Amino acid sequence: MSVKVRFAPSPTGKLHVGNVRTALVNWLFAKGQGGQFVLRIDDTDLARSTPEFEQGIEDDLTWLGLVWDERHNQSKRFDRYEAAADLLKAAGRLYACYDTAEELDRRRKVQLSRGLPPIYDRAGLNLTDAEKAAFEAEGRKPHWRFRLDGRRVAWEDLSRGHAEVDTASMSDPVLIREDGLFLYTLPSVVDDLDMAISHVIRGEDHVTNTGAQIEIFEALIAAGWAGSVPGFAHMPLLVGADGQALSKRLGSLSIAEMREQGYEPIAITSHLGRIGTSDPLEVAPSVEALGAGFAFSKMGRSPARYDTADLDRLNAQALHAMPYDDVRSRLADMECDLGEIFWNAVRSNLQKFSDVVEMAKIVQGPVTPVIEDTAFAAAALDQLPASIGSDVWATWTQAVKEATGAKGKGLFMPLRLILTGQAHGPDMATLVPLIDRDLIVRRLKGETA
Ligand code: GLU
Repeated sequence: MSVKVRFAPSPTGKLHVGNVRTALVNWLFAKGQGGQFVLRIDDTDLARSTPEFEQGIEDDLTWLGLVWDERHNQSKRFDRYEAAADLLKAAGRLYACYDTAEELDRRRKVQLSRGLPPIYDRAGLNLTDAEKAAFEAEGRKPHWRFRLDGRRVAWEDLSRGHAEVDTASMSDPVLIREDGLFLYTLPSVVDDLDMAISHVIRGEDHVTNTGAQIEIFEALIAAGWAGSVPGFAHMPLLVGADGQALSKRLGSLSIAEMREQGYEPIAITSHLGRIGTSDPLEVAPSVEALGAGFAFSKMGRSPARYDTADLDRLNAQALHAMPYDDVRSRLADMECDLGEIFWNAVRSNLQKFSDVVEMAKIVQGPVTPVIEDTAFAAAALDQLPASIGSDVWATWTQAVKEATGAKGKGLFMPLRLILTGQAHGPDMATLVPLIDRDLIVRRLKGETA
């Protein structure tokens, strides 16, 4: 069977780490199997969907390297949903209901007070034509519910193993609202059939939906709709470092914001692709390599722990391994392209790419020197070789050591503080040869240069 998966976001908000993890796992699974990845924009809710959010979704996925093979908008497929609804109505599986929200609420309360489960009582199913006509005459419009079989719906879940949902314990789901809006449930099934989706991969908050949707798949197929029921994988949800569900905090973890904060796409994909799996939490060489190593069998059943400290560590790791050729144009954009020797000297000191701006100042200035002992600085100036060669650090520090008697940390730290203004930083032996002699002289004299 050829693998074809889909990521189906609603363009009603920004992508965050929760839905990007779903996108990523779909992509990794598809690419690992040589399959296809479909981007499906779930924009049936025309009032809440915006072109800006849709564009944001595309920008984020592209930035992360999650390219799609096909792209669809549900808003362009209403004729298919109408056709499916007609078929289900003819088969007696989709029925009109006229209950108002207040009536439903009242009946639910009565059920609860009697200790009964608050399941829809199927009042709509038993209406006579005359009763329906009376509601219509009152000005009521119907909403449409799918009549569940009320049975154990079972599937082999790629992530959870054998899974079952008892649809007898569920209310018949509303598929079409009284204003004619198709809720997500039916369009999703129609699209999965029409687009020949082989696997539906999503969060475990969809497990109950899957029970109802499998019934809808089967009802449509039985009524002659082409296609077959896909396989399913429901991933454990994300929790924060504190073990609490992330769902409420996801809004503040948007990918757009993380991009602004300077996270590398490969750090984000390595992190989200590996938390909750048996793979070590290390940065992958590429998102393709991550796909090649992906398997649902590596995914545990317990929630995946999303800890920003891990992401920070992976981000630094990604930068430390980044070859000069891969960052050259980014360095140039920031006016920090000081050559390969510079990049190799500073990359292991970066937490975020933008830290390179501070590093470049060491070479280009301005640096405000920190001088704790002016006599030492003057002696160091005296000993500075007339020309700055690649081995200047060894020769110069040896000369300063002989002239001042300073050694070890007492020798190297003051020089670092004078030349960089910082107590920590990249390897001085590599960096100092890149600094103009004139700048070194001025810093040794205490000038900002
Ligand atoms: N638009 C749906 C959602 O965002 C898609 C769920 C699915 O993958 O089926 O929840």
